[in-house]
Amino acid sequence: MRYRSQLLLLGVLFFHLSIGFSQKTYLLKPARVFDGIATHEGWWVLVQGEKIVRVGPSTDFKNLSNTSAETIDLKGCTLLPGLIEGHSHLFLHPYNETPWDDQVLREARSLRTARATLHAKLTLKAGFTTVRDLGTEGAEFDDVGLKQAINQGIIPGPRMLIATKALIATGSYAPKGFSPDIEVPQGAEEADGHDKLIQAVRRQIGKGADVVKIYADYRWGLMGEARPTFLVDEIKLIVETARSSGRPTIAHAGSTEGMRRAIMGGCETLEHGDAGTPEIFKLMQEKGVALCPTLAAGDAVSQYRGWKKGVEPEPERIKNKRLTFKQALDAGVIICFGGDVGVFAHGDNAREMEMMVEYGMKPLEVLKSATSINARVFHLAQLGQIQPSFLADLVAVEGRPDEQISDVRKVKMVMKNGIIFKE
Ligand SMILES: [Zn+2]
Repeated sequence: MRYRSQLLLLGVLFFHLSIGFSQKTYLLKPARVFDGIATHEGWWVLVQGEKIVRVGPSTDFKNLSNTSAETIDLKGCTLLPGLIEGHSHLFLHPYNETPWDDQVLREARSLRTARATLHAKLTLKAGFTTVRDLGTEGAEFDDVGLKQAINQGIIPGPRMLIATKALIATGSYAPKGFSPDIEVPQGAEEADGHDKLIQAVRRQIGKGADVVKIYADYRWGLMGEARPTFLVDEIKLIVETARSSGRPTIAHAGSTEGMRRAIMGGCETLEHGDAGTPEIFKLMQEKGVALCPTLAAGDAVSQYRGWKKGVEPEPERIKNKRLTFKQALDAGVIICFGGDVGVFAHGDNAREMEMMVEYGMKPLEVLKSATSINARVFHLAQLGQIQPSFLADLVAVEGRPDEQISDVRKVKMVMKNGIIFKE
């Protein structure tokens, strides 16, 4: 009998571990806390189970009745809410290792999934406890299983908001350039018109999409330039269908007209936005549509194409990106943090944060983007701030990232759901 009850106890313990819940209590003593809005010197944080239960000046913790708390000294560290990556592709790896076309057409899905598990670990280790993963790029619905493996505690990784296959207008996307006599698998799902679009949106939601992603434009113009794809009415239909289920629609949009259609169609965030204009950004500001600028992706791709950064002058594409990003800031557009990581190495997510500063934002504003602002824009009610009753997703970094953004790379501790990540 005793043996059986021990087995039962083990089973219960295993169950708790495997679903990723912590029953522990931690008293975290950093030098300061950035709570998602502002920095507070000398604040501490108490975590119980998966939640934050107290945060405030260290003097408030003197009469701590709960003596079972494990104390974690984080001298010289700033404690931040777990960082939220706004635009990742865990199923892609840097294009200078393997071009995108070859990843989609030549790599087995099992290979891509094996890589994705490593990418998930590297992301969490770097302090990014949540990712909005915007499309598997040809790896079908494999993000659904990856997310489940993380949530079930089988592999370490960030909590995931997933887009599954994403939606493209027929003929617009890639890989392209093959004989018209053969059907080449595409990096997202083709669908057009009333019935087909409604079906595709509902199918992706049914299989696990948290967010519906569309490509509002793509490089299919006569000269290979970015041109709009879906009609405004098609976008409205997608948005309305997704919204019925409580899900947002977001858009890849790089051209001026693609951006305009995505905004008018009701998309909540625009990804890239390279050809935005003051008028377009004003429209975004008025309608509360956020911009996820993906500065690091353009920077990486330009370097893959041969630009020697720091040695050679900036290519037109980069100069233009600086200009339009500045216009978005001037117009007061909500700025998400999201780098299109996967184009460059997973775990190097901070590259986008550094570039946001390089292109004109203050480090504190970048930290807000990557925490409280992304949480609000992505409808993550209990994340992005260090507040009582919020989920205990926390990152301790050495130094002062609110003054020197690259300090976010000096990660000392990562906690997700009240559980400390260890290799
Ligand atoms: Zn992307």
